[in-house]
Amino acid sequence: MRTPLIAGNWKMNGSKPMVRELVSGILASLDSSRDVELLLIPPSTYVAMVSSLIEATPLRLGGQDVSVHESGAFTGEIAGSMLSEFGCQYVLVGHSERRSLHGESNEEVAAKFVAAQGAGLQPILCVGETLEQRQGGETETVVGHQVAAVIERAGIAAFSKAVLAYEPVWAIGTGETASPDQAQAVHAFIREQIARENATIAGRLRIVYGGSVKGDNAPDLFARDDIDGGLIGGASLTAESFMAIYRAA
Ligand code: PEP
Repeated sequence: MRTPLIAGNWKMNGSKPMVRELVSGILASLDSSRDVELLLIPPSTYVAMVSSLIEATPLRLGGQDVSVHESGAFTGEIAGSMLSEFGCQYVLVGHSERRSLHGESNEEVAAKFVAAQGAGLQPILCVGETLEQRQGGETETVVGHQVAAVIERAGIAAFSKAVLAYEPVWAIGTGETASPDQAQAVHAFIREQIARENATIAGRLRIVYGGSVKGDNAPDLFARDDIDGGLIGGASLTAESFMAIYRAA
């Protein structure tokens, strides 16, 4: 049995008043009887603030990116140990915006995955194809390579302390969602790829879906066998829309 994970990636959005209002709205509608893990992923400047706001609550905290380095002369970078020190348990690696806007390669993403685990964080490895790649019938090849690069670098055992996020690039922030059939097919493909290396790890691995998830499309997505929750962008910015997704999990 895999505990569903609902993660809110705030991207570069927020202000102190917004963070206060959002976190208190989320806490107000949290139902502690539900077996759902709820994770907040604020910009790094708000990590400490969110950490203190959610202290002694079941909410989890994560970072949006992590350096491949442990410390040193890397202006602007944030080490995994710094995220851990401020209460983060998770960190995104390989989000499509990092891959496309910052040129992160599969190899760099794999190095970040390893660095995150070295600092005691669970990486949430984001993978997904562009519209062009989907239309060209390359979805499985692209996603397969993204996952394989991490297996090669980190080893399959590393996936017992990680989460995978399938996020088709054409569905992120576009209002267009993969259909439950499309998403389930890729999730099953990824689980099968992991299972070829280790069936037990594959059976326990949470694979969440991301790409314009909202309260109204979440129930059909989350009902599918291999979809273990969601990575939410736009709809994680208000408590109302985020918690509607949480209730669907
Ligand atoms: C994301 O940024 O990971 C994401 C899925 O965004 P959105 O929900 O806005 O499509």
